[in-house]
Formats: sequence, structure tokens, C-alpha cells
Amino acid sequence: MTVRTRVAPSPTGDPHVGTAYIALFNLCFARAHGGQFLLRIEDTDQARSTPESEQAILDSLRWLGLEWDEGPDVGGEFGPYRQSERMELYGQYAQQLVDAGKAFVCYRTPQELNELRQARRAAGNSTALKPADLALPETEVARRRDAGDPWVIRMVVPDEEGACAIDDLLRGTIELDWSMVDAQILLKSDGMPTYHLANVVDDHLMGITHVLRGEEWINSAPKHKLLYAYFGWDMPVLCHLPLLRNPDKS
Ligand code: GLU
Repeated sequence: MTVRTRVAPSPTGDPHVGTAYIALFNLCFARAHGGQFLLRIEDTDQARSTPESEQAILDSLRWLGLEWDEGPDVGGEFGPYRQSERMELYGQYAQQLVDAGKAFVCYRTPQELNELRQARRAAGNSTALKPADLALPETEVARRRDAGDPWVIRMVVPDEEGACAIDDLLRGTIELDWSMVDAQILLKSDGMPTYHLANVVDDHLMGITHVLRGEEWINSAPKHKLLYAYFGWDMPVLCHLPLLRNPDKS
């Protein structure tokens, strides 16, 4: 197996030291194993992503000497490496999950979502909405569809007690309660994928074997584990790195 790692910044602002830190560990890990390190631009948030931010991120990583083997500016056989250039892929994969019963079309309005969360809270449950919470009678679905109402695609998640076990290269086995895992949106009403769908699809298609990323993504791991299982793909090895902090922990 050839080790393949990546850094996947979102070009939504000034270059961040955290991106350089994560890139450094991914680069070193790949080099230590004779593998490849790639850079992927995660610009699915079209309102916040800018070409200037992307350029500044590339320039600053290069200035630090963090060279990637594949990326939007250097190419590679797994491209394109900019998610905005891969848009048609994500809709197809979302539809594949709908067809397999692993995802569903949801017509719930923002106001209804608020009410459903409040109802769960009042019942002493987590506010993570489950597929059963979101279900609507078929006639109502048909009515909203005929009216051309906006819809999203959400993933099926377990509605059960117990924990999802995530193996982490650094931390060993992490247990995360299923009750906290909501029926995540995969495809937004504008047809854009969310981070979760695009990230899993691209890590798979780009042959990523090890995902070294910041610990702020630990809570996403159960969703990603489910998505890999739904698609029938092997999940990369996960490694969640501690955030960079000041001595006072800020
Ligand atoms: N686009 C995400 C970020 O900006 C990537 C997270 C990941 O590595 O999966 O942090």
C-alpha cells in the first residue's frame, strides 16, 4: 500500500497557522512512509471562498517549504483538486445513497427544524435530529414536491443507545454516543455538497490512506464511518491532532 495523505484547506480567509501545522504532519507522515502528499482545496462554501484566499494559502505553505506532490496548481492523476470543479460527482454519490435507502430527501423548513429540536430537548433527548423526527406523511411530501419547495438530502443515522467506536492512530479507540449524531445534510438545497459528503467522496477517489486532521473534526468521525460503510469503501486511518494552543490554553 502506498501511503497517501492530504491537507484540505477551505479558502475562506487569511492563511492560518493551523493549516501549516496539519500540512507539516501530513507531509512528514507521507515522506516517512515513501508515500505521497496532496493538497485539495475544499471550496464548496461558494459564498465564503475566494481565489485570493486560495492563492494566499498556496503561497504561504510554499514559503514554509511544504511542497505537495499533487494539487490544483501542480496537477496529478486524481484531479481536479478543487472541489468546485468536481461538483457533478457529489450529486451522483448522494443519489446513490438515496437509491440504496441510506439517505433521504427532506423537505423540512428551518422553522420546523427548530420546533423539532425544541421538542427533542423538552423530551430530555439530544437535539440531534434523527430520520424518524424528520419524516413527513407521503401526501405532505408530494404536496411540497409539487409546490417546488426546497429540499436537501440527508443521511440515515442510527437512532439507538450506545456508542460508535472510532480507531484513532494517536488516541486509540474513541467512543462517541450515537445519540449526538444527527441526520446530517449531505447535499444542500442549492445542489452543493456539505463538507462531510465531499470530503469522504474525495478522500476515497483520491486514494487517501491516512487522514491527519485537527481534533475539532472528531465529532464528524461517526458520520464519516457510516458514509464509508454505506458506500462499501475502506475508511482511511484517522489521526486527530491536538489544536495549537497558547500556554494559557487559549
Ligand atoms: N476543509 C476542512 C478544513 O478546513 C478539512 C478537514 C479535514 O481534514 O477533513 O479543516
